[in-house]
Amino acid sequence: MSNEGAGPGGLLFVVSAPSGTGKTTVVERLVEICPNLHRSRSYTSRPPRPGEADGVDYNFISRSAFEAMVAREEFLEWADVFGNLYGTARRDTEAALAAGRDVVLVIGVQGAHQVRGRVSGTVGIFVLPPSFQALETRLRGRCQDEPAAISRRLETARSEVSAVDAYEYVVVNDTLDQCVAELAAIVTAERARRTRRQREVNGIVKTFEER
Ligand code: 5GP
Repeated sequence: MSNEGAGPGGLLFVVSAPSGTGKTTVVERLVEICPNLHRSRSYTSRPPRPGEADGVDYNFISRSAFEAMVAREEFLEWADVFGNLYGTARRDTEAALAAGRDVVLVIGVQGAHQVRGRVSGTVGIFVLPPSFQALETRLRGRCQDEPAAISRRLETARSEVSAVDAYEYVVVNDTLDQCVAELAAIVTAERARRTRRQREVNGIVKTFEER
């Protein structure tokens, strides 16, 4: 599957970050301010946390339903994260891109690696917390997980951060506004690539041709 060139297909952005970095909030704000950018809603076998709703935060499904989707090869990518299964439905993403919409996936580093191998032209953005200590403070502060789960997430964060070199862009989530503004700038810059606007460019250049 190709995501490059001057065709009508949309752009695929993949945003990864260690959990607790605030990437979900950041990307929610991003899609609010960027026209024609759509966030793909992942499927997960994890039960909803307080305040999370099915079809809003995730499509929450049972482990057996998830495994059936895997067997039917319905996922563009999927991964086991902290013992729960998470995946991006192939159909949703391909339909949006084919319709010329730009899509943003918020997925872990394993999933991002799979997507990169399957969709050429994927734009990877890694959201880094300002430091390990800042991430730890945030995770403990949100009080959503048991201390043992927090320690596990922090350990995972160490290996996730080591995958940063595979991404085209890095944004440090220091303040929310600045982080969202940088992400929007990346989207704008990627959309402005000459190769992606070739048809439009050709049309304009043509108006300059001597008669
Ligand atoms: P959480 O349970 O905190 O919502 O998410 C845990 C981890 O799962 C995060 O690192 C998040 O990026 C990752 N994740 C969420 N959705 C997907 C998905 O569709 N695919 C993959 N590979 N990872 C996901």
